[in-house]
Order: sequence, then C-alpha cells, then structure tokens
Amino acid sequence: MQLGPHFPLRYLVDVQDSRPGADKGPNTPREWLDRQKMPWPHAGRKIGHGHAWDDYLKPEDWQAHPEWMAMDAEGKRRDFTARPAGVKYCTTNPQLVQAFAAGVIGRLDAHPAWKSASISPADGGDFCLCPECRKLHTTDPHGRRSVVMNILTFYNAVAKIVAQKHPDRPLGGYVYYNYMYPPAEPIKMEPNVWLVLAPLNYYGFGLYKPVYRDEFASVINGWLKVTKNFNYHNYSTWMRDFNGAPLPVARDLLKLELPTLAAAGAPSVDMLGMGGWGYGGPTNYLYAKLMWDPKQDVDKLYEEWMALGYGPAAAPMKQLYELIETRFKAYKEAESPVYRGEMYEINYDKVEKIYLPVFGEMERLYQQALELAATDKQRARLAMFGDNLVMLLHDMRAAGMVVPGAEQSVFFRTEDQYQQFLKDTEFSNALYRHAGKRWLGPVWKGEWNG
Ligand SMILES: [Zn+2]
Repeated sequence: MQLGPHFPLRYLVDVQDSRPGADKGPNTPREWLDRQKMPWPHAGRKIGHGHAWDDYLKPEDWQAHPEWMAMDAEGKRRDFTARPAGVKYCTTNPQLVQAFAAGVIGRLDAHPAWKSASISPADGGDFCLCPECRKLHTTDPHGRRSVVMNILTFYNAVAKIVAQKHPDRPLGGYVYYNYMYPPAEPIKMEPNVWLVLAPLNYYGFGLYKPVYRDEFASVINGWLKVTKNFNYHNYSTWMRDFNGAPLPVARDLLKLELPTLAAAGAPSVDMLGMGGWGYGGPTNYLYAKLMWDPKQDVDKLYEEWMALGYGPAAAPMKQLYELIETRFKAYKEAESPVYRGEMYEINYDKVEKIYLPVFGEMERLYQQALELAATDKQRARLAMFGDNLVMLLHDMRAAGMVVPGAEQSVFFRTEDQYQQFLKDTEFSNALYRHAGKRWLGPVWKGEWNG
C-alpha cells in the first residue's frame, strides 16, 4: 500500500491559482490543488530555479570587470548593460566565480526565509567563447555545441563556496537550452546543487516528435546518473494559447513522462498545467494523479474523468478531444525538431491547419454532448468548453480566416454580444490567462509579440 505521494516534491503551475487582483471570487484552482493534495507553487518552491545571473552581479560590476564577461567569436568581451536579462559570464574566471558566490551568499543572508536560491544562467545564448571556456565545450547528441560542462563546473564551483556559509540551503540550476543533454563524461555534483532540467526541445508538445520521444528515457536516465538532486520542470503540454483553441489531453505524453522519471528515481517534478480549465481539466487531473502514483493507468483515469465530468455526454466529448488530439499530434510530428519560440504557441498556422478545417465537426460533437448532458454541473462544464470556442471563432474571423457557416454557429456572437461575453467571462477559469491577464487580440502570425 502506498502511504504518500511518489514524488515528494511536486508542483503543477500556471493553473490560475494566482488570481487577478480585481477578482473577488473564490480561488477555485487553489481549492482544487488542495483537494488533490498538491502544494501551491506560489507559497514558494523548495528549490528555486528562475533565470538568475543578473541577480547577483550588477551592471556596475560588469563595467568594472569586463574580463568577467562572456567573450564573443571575435575575441571581444560582450557588453550586456543594454539587456541585463541576457547576461553571460566567463565562467572559468576564478574571480568571477568568487564574486558571483559572494553575491549569492549576500542574498541568502538578506533573506533568511528563502529555502534555496537559483544560480541558473540568464535566458538565451551568447555563452563565453574564450579559449579556457571553449576547452569545456562538447557536442550534444544532435551534433550541436553544448556548454553543459561549463555550466555544471560553474555550479559546482559556486556551490562549494556558498556551502561554507549556507550548507543547508540548496542551489537550483537549470540544465536547459544548449546545456539540456547530460554530459558524456562523468561529473560529480556538489551535494548542495539541485539540477533542474528544463528541456527546451520538449516544450510545447515537443515529445510528440519521434526523435525526442525516442531519446527521452536515455536523457532522463543520464541525468539521474549525474545526480539524484534532480527536478524535472517541463512545459510539455503548455502552449501560449490566448485565442480559445482547446488543447488536447496528451495522453501519450502523460504515459511517457512521469512514469519514466519515476522509474529513473527522480524525486521532484514541476510541471506546467493547463491554465484554460474549459478544456484543460482532464490533463490537470491526470498530472495530479500521476504525481501521487505514476504507475496508474492513464487511459483508465481519462475514462474516469470523462464519465464523472460529462456523464452521458462523455462519448461525443471524447470524440471531440480525440479529433483535436489526432490533428495536433500529426502537426507536431511533422514539425522540425530544431527549436523555435513559435513551437509552443497556438498561432495562425496551427489554428488554420489543426482547428479551422474541423470547426464544424467540433461544433456538431459539442451539440451532441449538450443534448445528452443530464445535470446542471455537466452543462456548466460543457459551457466552459464552449466559451473557448466562442473566443476561437471570434478570433479566427478577426484574423481574417474564413469560417464556413460562421454566422449560423452556436458559438457566433455579434461584436456587441462578444464584448458582453468578454465582460461576463472576465474572471472565468475556463479561458486561458497568463500571469493573471488575458490577451484579446486576433490569432497572431509567426511568433507572439504581445
Ligand atoms: Zn570564458
């Protein structure tokens, strides 16, 4: 008999448990997290892991010590004063390591309540190309330059110094971007370092791509051989999705990720849930259940959610979810494995190829479900799903897409009615929100720039 959760550290984030300030209603996502015995991420993660290199040294330090900064391909030290959020250091410089560690110690001294601190690099590339740093460069399994040994060596050097003052407060560090693959050479990590794998290639349903699905277990096992202080933080089923496009449940990914992590002995998972509860309920439920017991049968849990959530309307709703899933999966499988930001965005191309051709079919299944629903709760759940399609239809048309029969659709609203709809749903959990805000523009082309 299992007495506690399989993953002692577990979070499901971006599920609207941090409410907009003006919302005076109950925090239902937080009540739901409580019912699932999930910790609230906003109460503070045990292992901090945000991009943090600009937290400990400041532009004054960078200007006083250009030799601490990353070197570019021409041999010049980079200047990050205009974009501090991207700062990169020359991590083989011992004075830089000392100064950075002193900065971390200073922050921990000033914040006695912090459980940990992040030493993760700033986002993006521009890592140091000086001869000393280059000696640590390797090649990842896809033939691209990897700075993983640079980063792990730096984490160890900083951690050793910080441990002298704060041995009990772990330091979280990403393995991410062009340092997400475990090193081929063995390396022993300091005991106060926690590696946080944020596998950029696998963001936004990237694990649907055969090349990534196939390598997944070996990547996870490789990292767990480096250290058991390991937190998996993935945006696996996350999409920037402001226009109401319902995301698929992603059962294939749920069957792959947490069970593989559990088998490899990972103690910590920190997953992005689905913020749009109108369609994301089953996925959030599956994440919560699998974090307690990753051996559970995903298909059985899915059937259970559909039966409990929609009652007699479950059959057409499953068809509707699976219609989206099949098309979504085919799109992702055909997408290039080389990462670009728009890969985790529901933009014009995805809406046009995945949703637009079957909008009428989605509506037909939804109507069937409405006819079969037997209770007010089931109807309310369907309405939450339907609100997303009201928004999607409006935003497709606002982007100039031609939707056959749009004005006869049950999801059609005149502009006045749509403005009223937006007011009525201002704080609805059914629709996706990022950092407490909706973005109400039309479906966008290319990469989001809102
Ligand atoms: Zn360097």
